[in-house]
Amino acid sequence: MQRRPVHSDRMLGMDNSQIKVKKSDIVLIVALLVGFLAMITVLTLTKSGGAYVVVSVDSVEVAAFSLDQDITYEIKGFDGGSNTLIIQDGKAHLEDSSCPDHLCEHMGKIDKVGQSIICLPNRVVVEIRGAGDDKGFDTISS
Ligand SMILES: [Zn+2]
Repeated sequence: MQRRPVHSDRMLGMDNSQIKVKKSDIVLIVALLVGFLAMITVLTLTKSGGAYVVVSVDSVEVAAFSLDQDITYEIKGFDGGSNTLIIQDGKAHLEDSSCPDHLCEHMGKIDKVGQSIICLPNRVVVEIRGAGDDKGFDTISS
């Protein structure tokens, strides 16, 4: 028999330590999702006309705009970060972001229900929500 229980124990130990590191990330993501879902529920209940651009920071909704209006909005992100939200011609995107990676700017413009721009360093989420989930996907195709 060439079993080596010691070796497999070491493997398990490594796995455990890796899982521990990731756990904190998962907790954060779950917390963000829960807050986000709560926000979506509130928005779904609040029926209105067209699609909305919803801005949330650290899982808290801070602003919502109609996708039909052209605006420039300064988002005060987490820990002093900032992003500028631009809505123009029915499309939304981020500019002048303070984050180091600028991934959010590279996500480009969004104009369809369910699309989102996320800036992780600033904990900013910009998402397009429809007035009603039932028709949302087909209605927004002007
Ligand atoms: Zn960013």
